[in-house]
Amino acid sequence: MALMLNGMGVSRGVAIGPVFILHRNQPEIIEKEIDRKNVAAEVRRFKSAHSAARKQLLKVRDAIPEGSPEDISAFIETHILMLDDSMLSSTPGDLIKHHHCNAEWALKLQRDAIVKVFESMNDPYIATRRDDVYHVFDRVLQALASGGKNREIDDTVSWKDQIIVADDLTPADTVLMQHHGVAGFVTEMGGPLSHTAILARSLNIPAIVGLTEARRYLKAGEQLVVDGSCGLVLADPDDQTIDHFHKRQREIRRKARELVKLTDAKPRTKSGEKITLLANIEIDDDLKLLRKVNAAGVGLYRTEFLYMHRKDIPDEEEHYKTYLKVLRALRGAPLTIRTVDLGADKEVEPVYTGPLAHNPAMGLRGIRLCLNDPSLFVPQLRAILRASAKGPIKIMFPMLTTVPELLQAIQLLENTKDTLRSKGIKFDNKIQVGGMIEVPAAAISAAHFAEHLDFLSIGTNDLIQYTLAIDRIDDQVNYLYDPLNPAVLALIKIVIEAGLKRKIPVTMCGEMAGNSEYTRLLLGLGLRNFSMPPNSILEVKNVLRGTNIATIRRHALALLRYSDRNKQVDLMAKLNA
Ligand code: PEP
Ligand code: MG
Repeated sequence: MALMLNGMGVSRGVAIGPVFILHRNQPEIIEKEIDRKNVAAEVRRFKSAHSAARKQLLKVRDAIPEGSPEDISAFIETHILMLDDSMLSSTPGDLIKHHHCNAEWALKLQRDAIVKVFESMNDPYIATRRDDVYHVFDRVLQALASGGKNREIDDTVSWKDQIIVADDLTPADTVLMQHHGVAGFVTEMGGPLSHTAILARSLNIPAIVGLTEARRYLKAGEQLVVDGSCGLVLADPDDQTIDHFHKRQREIRRKARELVKLTDAKPRTKSGEKITLLANIEIDDDLKLLRKVNAAGVGLYRTEFLYMHRKDIPDEEEHYKTYLKVLRALRGAPLTIRTVDLGADKEVEPVYTGPLAHNPAMGLRGIRLCLNDPSLFVPQLRAILRASAKGPIKIMFPMLTTVPELLQAIQLLENTKDTLRSKGIKFDNKIQVGGMIEVPAAAISAAHFAEHLDFLSIGTNDLIQYTLAIDRIDDQVNYLYDPLNPAVLALIKIVIEAGLKRKIPVTMCGEMAGNSEYTRLLLGLGLRNFSMPPNSILEVKNVLRGTNIATIRRHALALLRYSDRNKQVDLMAKLNA
């Protein structure tokens, strides 16, 4: 009988194939004291295991097929760099010498000390990097246990078209898997930010992570269906179910091929309205994707990444050079730079070293933090202004709550312009200034904000969080996160209408804008500018090109009147029919 399990779908697509259970026995760590006379030999034992582990990784790096996504080699390089760092190449040797402990014990002491530092950092991305520490240390421990023999997957076993079920996978495992043509994978550990998840998405391998005890429930060789879109795993399905998923698989592949054909198509609705499709970007890879899907420009450039995983604060020059690089990549398309939105779910240190707020989402974040500390804000403003002399740049303030706060930010911008003028430094005198509407107070009074701004941008990720009083990264209340909540829709409508009345553009740059399920709803509410992750653009374009706004408007407006789930489902079905 079929068994259904649910995990976290992190890479879309359907995989069907037999289960291959990957048992990677963790090396046992026996803690032993070493006689003084054997210390030098134990250090040599550690060094030779370290060098064997390094050779293995170099071999994996050389096996990466040409044309593979850059992420892959970057992950392997990171592991090589970690191995080469003195924390792993020499500290364990020092520990053996000082404490007369065996190599395994020394590695464990060092690994635990590093993991402790990672865990003390309150950042979900860093927390997942802790896995890398385990992977690299395990590799040396395995080499110690096996006397330096290769721990990689046995080449005589065929993995082709199989679904790998493992506790966790290292980036090196994933490279080998791509080599072996695996159909998909399921892991017991990991989250959406884990390397396994990131790689699976880059490689387009359907994947599910965080399925605890998967290896207990699934049997080697049994048939498995993995639906990476919704996190569904079906073991031992009947023929009818397999047929259904084969069809779904073919349909997904066909759709992906169809979407690519839309790359050069105009983003125009069936009823003729011109829609602007912009991209949200954060890292270099987003820029490559943006070009691939022909986005009209950048509607949200998140600049927080410049501040992350480092001890110092980026200076004006670093900001400036980064913006010029992005401008060059955009080849004349507009770039909307959001001033830094640190705090809450976005790392604060080293920028803010004061007492931590009880409720960081409501504390000193975004524009509040910037206004509180102009020494943090002004170098970014100067860099944005200077870069605006070189290409079409707009500036956008995040987390606005009150109009006086906005006026204070505008005043700082004006003062910065005056300083540049007095020094003869060029910038775009007419640089457009926009504000993110992501706090309910700002949405309700959007008309007041619109009086002082050139454009508005709706940040639904935060707007939903604050409207429904749910922490956007708290798993326990995620079920309440609902873009269709009538209060959320009412606020979105208020903002769109405020823009229309003032004749300034309104964009939506929260995740809702990139979910094609909501495209018609948003068009019906009057939205004409969307900014989203680049890989959603073609899907949204496809929906809007098939939309006649006059036909769907009344269903969209009707959604504002209902909180009943059944009625909402019914109206959404009519909208998307
Ligand atoms: C938002 O809140 O919708 C948004 C786009 O900003 P971020 O997700 O970066 O907070
Ligand atoms: Mg936000």
